[in-house]
Amino acid sequence: MTILLSTLNARYTHASLGLRYLLANMGALKEQTRIQEFVSGAKTTEMVERILAAEPKIVGFGVYIWNVEETAKLVAMLKRVAPKLVIVLGGPEVSHETNEQHIVQLADYVVTGWGDVTFPKLCNEILNGPKPLMKVHAGVQPPMAEIALPYSLYADEDIAHRTLYVEASRGCPFKCEFCLSALDKTAWPFNIDSFLAEMESLHARGARLFKFVDRTFNLNIKTSLKIMQFFLDKLAANPEDPVYAHFELVPDHLPDALKEGIAKFPPGALQFEIGIQSFNPVVQSNISRKQDNQKAADNIRWLCEHSHVHMHVDLIAGLPGETVESFAEGFDKLWALGPHEIQFGILKRLRGTPIIRHTEEFGLVFDPHPPYTILANRDIDFPTMQKLVRFARYWDLVANSGRFTQTTPVLLGDRPFYNFMAFSDWLYKNTDATHRIALDRLAGLVQRYLAQLLGEAEAGELLARDGHAVRAKSGGKDKVQRADSAAPLRQARHLAA
Ligand code: SF4
Repeated sequence: MTILLSTLNARYTHASLGLRYLLANMGALKEQTRIQEFVSGAKTTEMVERILAAEPKIVGFGVYIWNVEETAKLVAMLKRVAPKLVIVLGGPEVSHETNEQHIVQLADYVVTGWGDVTFPKLCNEILNGPKPLMKVHAGVQPPMAEIALPYSLYADEDIAHRTLYVEASRGCPFKCEFCLSALDKTAWPFNIDSFLAEMESLHARGARLFKFVDRTFNLNIKTSLKIMQFFLDKLAANPEDPVYAHFELVPDHLPDALKEGIAKFPPGALQFEIGIQSFNPVVQSNISRKQDNQKAADNIRWLCEHSHVHMHVDLIAGLPGETVESFAEGFDKLWALGPHEIQFGILKRLRGTPIIRHTEEFGLVFDPHPPYTILANRDIDFPTMQKLVRFARYWDLVANSGRFTQTTPVLLGDRPFYNFMAFSDWLYKNTDATHRIALDRLAGLVQRYLAQLLGEAEAGELLARDGHAVRAKSGGKDKVQRADSAAPLRQARHLAA
């Protein structure tokens, strides 16, 4: 084996689509190439040992925002113990601001952008000469029909235990300035019939969970309908062994034909991730995001009321021109539309994105270390930004976790953002922690907080309705008991006041 393709995935369940694309397109070198994936958090020495045990001449690393620091350590150690090993980097993290990065200084070569053609060509030159003169190689983008699809490279173990990432298109025509896809300027579709043939064989091999990484699934409605019909057919043929598909959507483009298709999906079959990012027109204009807010809101409401789609809707705090007040307004508006989850993100400065053009005017201050999260801006100072970061974390634990479905609306009352912010501040004051809060403890804390507002009995009743053990004072001691879960909900009026 001559070439090893490697990366550190964020979790074991994330199977790297990028590495499989590279392997599928290695041409004559494919037989000598193998994939070796690791999971973030693995011991560097163990990864080095396993890589060297394969005796490769070249190792290609997929570098992403979540693994760049660990990969840099890995590359440094590899170069110490095996200086002749040729290391090639690729991936979005090293595709921009390339030369100034520490990891790039450690490596031999870098392929920026698309690696499907350029990586095998570079490997061929390294192995067979002439020796490449340049360190950084700009990836060539071939016609889509020339890219070999990688799906047969998902192993049976991947199909059985991991999320299968798939893509019917690459790129995005929109230009939201915080997003790397803004640089694409357009989207490029794969041939839909070849793509669906691959999905067919994945399904025949047992795949049931398909996560589409297309940036905008609903750009081309004809294609979207074909893909949805593929899944509807599978659901009709195997209702007892259903498929589950995840798509990313732009919110203001949902023609009737698409709605009709979406409405046919049963519960538990479809998940949408929808980016709103901000409802503030001034912010949208600052970041060059084109979005019809009314249409977007109407579509989200329609999806919530007339479909069984599980909806994740994204908001980003910290965008240029967004104040806490305007963010709160957008948050409350979105909550009222009823999505299952609000993904509360904090702005990050991804390498290469044009958001930095606002640095001076809006006083954008980013953490220089990955994931380059915003620390402060003109409108939100550092302590307030940290409060928002904690809000996002607790929001995941409480609202997005699905463990407090009855409790959350009461906690939010008629001022969702500010009420949850008050809870978030209280929780932090009482725990000093944003991580490692066990569910039982969290439920106890939520109960304690609500008891101050609603009284012991009503707080206990609420938590019981969410299936949590309830703490009650008895003879001066805390006792854990179950409350009557059939009791009516009366609490909302307290927080609505
Ligand atoms: S945020 Fe979404 S719509 Fe905007 S450029 Fe990125 S992928 Fe495209």
